[in-house]
Order: sequence, then C-alpha cells, then structure tokens
Amino acid sequence: MEEKGEENGVAAMKACYQKFDPAAYLQYNYTPPRADFTRNDSIVPWKLACLHRAFTEADVSGGLLVDIGAGPTLYQVLSGCEVFDKVILTDFLEVNRQELRRWLHNKGGCSLDWTPYLQHVCKLEGRRPSAWTEKAARLRQVVTDILPIDVHCSQPLAPDALPSGGADCLVSCFCLESVSPDLAAFTKALGHIRKLLRPGGHLMLIGALGESYYFGGPGVRIPVVPLSEAQVCASLKESGYTLIRLEVYTLTQDMRVGVDDVTGVFFAKARKD
Ligand code: SAM
Repeated sequence: MEEKGEENGVAAMKACYQKFDPAAYLQYNYTPPRADFTRNDSIVPWKLACLHRAFTEADVSGGLLVDIGAGPTLYQVLSGCEVFDKVILTDFLEVNRQELRRWLHNKGGCSLDWTPYLQHVCKLEGRRPSAWTEKAARLRQVVTDILPIDVHCSQPLAPDALPSGGADCLVSCFCLESVSPDLAAFTKALGHIRKLLRPGGHLMLIGALGESYYFGGPGVRIPVVPLSEAQVCASLKESGYTLIRLEVYTLTQDMRVGVDDVTGVFFAKARKD
C-alpha cells in the first residue's frame, strides 16, 4: 500500500515535468538579478564560487565526472571540466538534452549565452577573461555523452553507461528535491545515484532550502520538497555519504523574483564511504 503511494507520488512528479520549458527556466534563474556577475551576493556567482573551490581542492581527482539532472544548464561543470578528462551530462527530459547538445555542437540556437559564465569562471581560476574560448573548447572536448536518467530508478542510468567501477565524482544541482514527492523519495534518490559513484568518490550537491514550488515555465508550477540544512545532512548520512562541508546562502530580498519560494541554497561536498 505504502509502495503504491510512493509510486503515485513519483509518477505525479514525472507528469509535472512534461511541460518544463528550458528557455523560460533559463530566463527565470540564469539572468540578472540571479546571475549578476558584478555582485557577490547574486545566487549564480555564489554557486560558481562554491564549485570552483570544491573542484580545486586536492582530494578531488579522477577521470570521470557525471552531472545528475543537468537540465538545460552548463554552469555546474565549468570548474569540474578542467579537473576531469571526461564529463557525462544527464537529464530526464529530451528537451533539456537537446538544449545541451545545441551548445556542445556549437550550431547556434541556444536559449542562453553562456559566455559571461565562462568568463567569470576563468576569472575565478586566475585566467584572463579572454581565456573563455579555451574553456568553451575544453568543455566541448571533455563532454562525451548526454544521457537520459531517472533518479527514482534503483539503476538511474542504462546498464553500460558508466565504467564498472563507477564515476569518480558526481555533481547535481537543484535536481533531487525538485523531482521528489517527499523527503523519503529525496533520500532514496540520493542512495540511487550513490551507486553510480566509486567508493571514495565525491558528490557535489547544490539545492534549494525551504522551497515548496518553482515555475518550470509560464504556469508550470512544480512542487519541491522543502528542505532544511539538518534534513540535507541527515539524508546524506542515511544514504551512505560522509559530509565534508555544507555551505549555505540566504537569498536577499531582490533575488526573490516570483519564480519560486526558495529561501536559501545549500552546497554540500560529500564522499561515498
Ligand atoms: N541542474 C539544473 C540547474 O541547476 O538549474 C536543472 C535543475 S531543474 C530544477 C530539475 C531537473 O531535473 C530538470 O532538468 C528535470 O528535467 C530533471 N528531472 C526531472 N525528473 C527527473 C528524474 N526522475 N530523474 C532525474 N532528473 C529529473
């Protein structure tokens, strides 16, 4: 009986995503004020700084980085692509995978210009802003696949998608809490993606705090599991990760732009035990 309820909850979430609009989502979340590179208190520069720091620490290494639920965005792999020789992007929706392919194949028609993002991460890395073209080329070179994924499956990717040892590192941003019907499903999904990671590998998890919904397009209201910091820590522990660091950002009033009710953002760096 409980299992049936769980299945229904997950199915209802999947149905919500059928109307997800990548271009609108990018517009809502990845343009100013949320992506204002002249301000350190803007959400996107905060996220990029967390990722830059985490990916330049000596304990993070290996050959393969996998992004879980990439959506139509690339910001989350701009630091990691310098450390790992191979990056695999994944998402549940074909419309998002298409958006990513448009950028990677450099054929135009992208819904967002990633140039300021590339420039900003170059700056964080101490490179001249004009090095952004090299970073773009590096990213296009190391992304080898864009694959379908379902974090609610005990095996989220196709059986032979990854080498048998698993990935060296996972990055996942705003995915698990915004695709899960409740905290139990969120924790379970953390356990599912853990299977994709080699022992000792890292998980870089970014997500929303205190969020109950967001708009994935005009009128596309998607429910979210409202998480607290303590719940994030407990779920990570319960799913077999050791938390290395948790950082928290609190939204300023002007970042509350009416596209969700998020109050904060967390960044967790964790390791698979
Ligand atoms: N990572 C991006 C970001 O940082 O903005 C996108 C996050 S968006 C809020 C949530 C993403 O989860 C969407 O791209 C959606 O297609 C994806 N998604 C929906 N259901 C999923 C599932 N069952 N398994 C994995 N990803 C899913």
